[in-house]
Amino acid sequence: MRRHIVCLTFDFDTQSGFIARGMTGPTALSRGEFGLVGARRILSLLGEHRLRATWFIPGFTIESHPTACADVVRRGHEVAHHSWAHVPPGQQSRDEEEADLVRANEAIARLTGRKARGYRSPSWELSEHTIELLLAHGFQYDSSMMGNDYWPYRARTGDRAELGKPYRFGEETELIEMPISWSLDDYPHFEFVRTANTILPGLQPARIVMKSWLDEFRYMQKSVEWGVLTYTMHPYVIGRGYRMRALEYLIKMLRHAGAVFMTMEDAAAEARARIG
Ligand SMILES: [Zn+2]
Repeated sequence: MRRHIVCLTFDFDTQSGFIARGMTGPTALSRGEFGLVGARRILSLLGEHRLRATWFIPGFTIESHPTACADVVRRGHEVAHHSWAHVPPGQQSRDEEEADLVRANEAIARLTGRKARGYRSPSWELSEHTIELLLAHGFQYDSSMMGNDYWPYRARTGDRAELGKPYRFGEETELIEMPISWSLDDYPHFEFVRTANTILPGLQPARIVMKSWLDEFRYMQKSVEWGVLTYTMHPYVIGRGYRMRALEYLIKMLRHAGAVFMTMEDAAAEARARIG
């Protein structure tokens, strides 16, 4: 049976990413604070369209903004793991990474009554230990890699990449990878960031980006019988008025085109049954 699944995912970082990058001035922090406004708007929009989504919430946000996070749970969305402090695992020792994983999972368990099933790394950077740690801590899926687009796959450990030698795949694991892409992430399209060394221009017209995202869905429909397409958004980015209008347009068009909206946990379970 033809079935084309869409996962709407929201990384509810608030100020965590700015703090992790050392951007602790009042204006930088207020950009993250705007995520609270954006989250209210997104929850309202999802409610109007009776959609359940997946919210990757850092422990930092759960402990800093408990009411906003309780709203996400109350409205029936999935809460998944997004680190505690939004520090990419590649910048941590194995022990630091595991401690952060446990701390954030405890925050999620206090918020939702159960530990997270899914994980997404800050900035989509994994360490060589991440997959093994996720398995050890009972995770069902990861959503940080880009090895496919519409077809979830088994995450591997022990891939070998050495300069001057052929690439060697490692062992497939039980962890389901729900692939993502920077092209389907609101951040690089919209967010204007100026630092001492770089400028990320962002600020693309929202409708044009959403039309591209819709084309991605249409290509999935054309090219595979069954697939999952994941969009990644941040409340402090997508929550601006004209972008919310564009997101609503996308949701309406996806529904019209026959998209099946699911939480990532449910989509990962369906993918696992198909992968075997
Ligand atoms: Zn994030």
